Amino acid sequence: MSDVYFSKEIDRILDKIDFSKLGKKVAIKVHFGEKGCVTYISPEFVKKVYDKVISTGRSATLVECNVLYKGSRTNTTDHIKTAKEHGFTFAPIEILDGELGDEETDVKVDGIAKIAKLGAGIKKYDSMIVLTHFKGHIDAGYGGAFKNIGMGLANRSGKLSIHANTKPFINPKKCTACKNCINHCNFNAISIVDGKAKIDPQKCSGCAMCIAVCNNSAVNVPWGSSSHEEVQKKVVDYSKGVLEIIPNTIFINFLINITKDCDCFGIIQKPIIPDVGILYSKDIVAIDKSSLDLVNKKSNNKFDKINNIDKNRMIDYAFSRKLGNRDYKLIDLDR
Ligand code: SF4
Ligand code: SF4
Repeated sequence: MSDVYFSKEIDRILDKIDFSKLGKKVAIKVHFGEKGCVTYISPEFVKKVYDKVISTGRSATLVECNVLYKGSRTNTTDHIKTAKEHGFTFAPIEILDGELGDEETDVKVDGIAKIAKLGAGIKKYDSMIVLTHFKGHIDAGYGGAFKNIGMGLANRSGKLSIHANTKPFINPKKCTACKNCINHCNFNAISIVDGKAKIDPQKCSGCAMCIAVCNNSAVNVPWGSSSHEEVQKKVVDYSKGVLEIIPNTIFINFLINITKDCDCFGIIQKPIIPDVGILYSKDIVAIDKSSLDLVNKKSNNKFDKINNIDKNRMIDYAFSRKLGNRDYKLIDLDR
């Protein structure tokens, strides 16, 4: 059984954490929110965590990887600009997979995913605090700590391999034959056919670079080519890879502004259930399981039904992979 601490106050949660157990170079995993999203974790909360780490003489950096799709966080320059516009101006930021999302560190995980392709910069850190906005997710069912590190710390190629079992394809209606993708494809997999770019799936490695460099959004991610179950299990496998590189990792889940979809949607979403509070644990399975249980209870199981995906499947797979305990003791710090 693992301990999970609950409070409505971030300060009480931070008082419970023994920061002396962290290493000297602390990564703080954050999701900065796509431009247009307003329900990402408040920078005020993140600053409190950052200040606490710094006050103990450690270095701390806000870390994230670039996203798969075309948006305000597709490359590092735009990503950091978005983070700053969203108020994350108080700490250094490192986007771990490089300017175009192709810098990679591989970890053998031998699950549904054989290898976890992670942002290369992760290796610089000796400990991590994972700050997660708990909400729904269109593919994984819910977005908790697993989704935050398993999907979030994958580089672009890793994100593509989690989401899809097939290669990207080009929409000829949007393609202007500018050849930018051809110039960036290291696998010689793209050519111009009948005046439009075309990907040869036999040659394509799935690096996803063409998605990042096409300025016309003509390269499509084959969303939906992986089943929800595959996505969930690959996210857990990737999380295993992350925790092998940084075993000294702790988790804080914010059950606040709980929305149906994740913070990658560049729109204003209304919370679907009232706020619950903040959880802290050293156990990734226990924190996500307790988060699910609390939001299900608070919503009379309404949350359980959103996105029509079995959310406990991810917990059960993670438990079977020995990533933590499904049983937990909830300790209410407000009592
Ligand atoms: S970068 Fe985009 S628009 Fe240019 S050739 Fe490739 S797919 Fe077509
Ligand atoms: S995904 Fe990578 S290998 Fe495949 S076509 Fe695009 S750039 Fe080339």
